[in-house]
Amino acid sequence: MSLIYKPKMQHEDMQDLSSQIRFVAAEGKIWLGEQRMLLMQLSTLASFRREIISLIGIERAKGFFLRLGYQSGLMDAELARKLRPAMREEEVFLAGPQLYALKGMVKVRLLTMDIAIRDGRFNVEAEWIDSFEVDICRTELGLMNEPVCWTVLGYASGYGSAFMGRRIIFQETSCRGCGDDKCLIVGKTAEEWGDVSSFEAYFKSDPIVDERYELQTQVANLRNRLKQYDGQYYGIGHSPAYKRICETIDKAARGKVSVLLLGETGVGKEVIARSVHLRSERAEQPFVAVNCAAIPPDLIESELFGVDKGAYTGAVNARAGRFERANGGTIFLDEVIELTPRAQATLLRVLQEGELERVGGDRTRKVDVRLITATNENLEEAVKMGRFRADLFFRLNVFPVHIPPLRERVEDIPLLVEHFLRRHHKEYGKKTLGLSDRAMEACLHYQWPGNIRELENALERGVILTESNESINVESLFPGLAMATEGDRLSSEGRLEEESGDSWFRQIIDQGVSLEDLEAGLMRTAMDRCGQNISQAARLLGLTRPAMAYRLKKLICESNGPIAALRQVWAFLRSFADSGERAS
Ligand SMILES: [Zn+2]
Repeated sequence: MSLIYKPKMQHEDMQDLSSQIRFVAAEGKIWLGEQRMLLMQLSTLASFRREIISLIGIERAKGFFLRLGYQSGLMDAELARKLRPAMREEEVFLAGPQLYALKGMVKVRLLTMDIAIRDGRFNVEAEWIDSFEVDICRTELGLMNEPVCWTVLGYASGYGSAFMGRRIIFQETSCRGCGDDKCLIVGKTAEEWGDVSSFEAYFKSDPIVDERYELQTQVANLRNRLKQYDGQYYGIGHSPAYKRICETIDKAARGKVSVLLLGETGVGKEVIARSVHLRSERAEQPFVAVNCAAIPPDLIESELFGVDKGAYTGAVNARAGRFERANGGTIFLDEVIELTPRAQATLLRVLQEGELERVGGDRTRKVDVRLITATNENLEEAVKMGRFRADLFFRLNVFPVHIPPLRERVEDIPLLVEHFLRRHHKEYGKKTLGLSDRAMEACLHYQWPGNIRELENALERGVILTESNESINVESLFPGLAMATEGDRLSSEGRLEEESGDSWFRQIIDQGVSLEDLEAGLMRTAMDRCGQNISQAARLLGLTRPAMAYRLKKLICESNGPIAALRQVWAFLRSFADSGERAS
């Protein structure tokens, strides 16, 4: 009993429906039968839709709006049956399309309608005219690649299913929202469609919460892995020299082999040490870094190996040393050459037997610690001179890694600049425009005797001195240059050039700097650059360590008076505290 139904959809036909709409402003409510309705701007819904799409993607958004419409269709089917109890099936069914129209969703022009509830027969074809969703796409989203009348489609499917008491599915075969002439829809029973799994999938409750949870877990895992693969500068660099280091570190990381890091001061040895740790099986265990040069020689043993109560005057409480704190993990001893002979002997025992005794204690404690050491001096030389134990040297030198100075990996400077700028922008809550071209040029030509640490300091200074939305200029990176006569050390291309000795000395004399002040300034700068390490500072200035120590002592106690001496002591204590902070 097939029938081609071409209804006129007259206004009177839906009088029973439209009379159900009541605006009760006094209550702040609109009703359609029993359902509370909302009158809202289409543009509001449009921006909501755009947001949903950008938030969860087109496919998910489609499911979301299909279900929204479906729910609404189910409720309207209930209303239709209630309002048209005695009418023919087709007329009852028509309440659906009429309600779409009444609600302003779309005007429906039925092309075919062949329905019979008892036989489970359902064939409906229609054209949708001026669907609100096409409107939305035109104004807010632009043309899409596939039909867009999702809510209306969901509505039709929900309404049809509730009306028929079986699964009815509507598909939009062409849509103006994706450039077709008309919006055409076909509705059939699920059985007739055949495979409807892809459509049905839209109606399964969205596992977005589960997926989000799963994603969060994945993100956490990835972060962990990133941490393992990424030290602070680790991963920053693409120069061949740097890549070789990464490969070597990969090989060294596994197992417990002692690693000896060699290279100039400031090349980032601690970062490399941390990378070795993070790439090892010990990654979850502690990483403890100690700068041996920053700890007074008479405290180094108790600092490293701990102290028992009453071991010496002032040892009021028993205290675990850095080795015990690193148990299960990795300890990094920077400037290992500064260890006293006694500390060297204890370290050797820890390496050989995996046990230690605290200073002043007699209990033997087991420790399982992977050792990474570093020095920027020649350890072999120190062994020859009797300053460092040969047997300990052989233990430490199992896997030596030479870290190149920054000037040998100039290609990495732009990446490092970007990295440090990001860090300092965050730290100082501002955003500069980055280095000016001249400043970058200067960075690429500078020799960076202080290596990465010096670069980081220069960039931090640059960020401090530069306002947001301004470029960091050469002068803020290299303040020493600004003092020099203009053009003296900067060529017209912004290149840093060797200063002419003459003009520099002239300037010093012009400014009335005394020889003593000059010496004091040189020594202080050398000490700062070498992290208060006297041996290194001595080498920088071409002095022996005793000669340097003698001059420093003179500088502190005699020439500059007690206040400067206090300042020096304070700087020393602070560097000591800093190294402790890094380790914990
Ligand atoms: Zn459409």
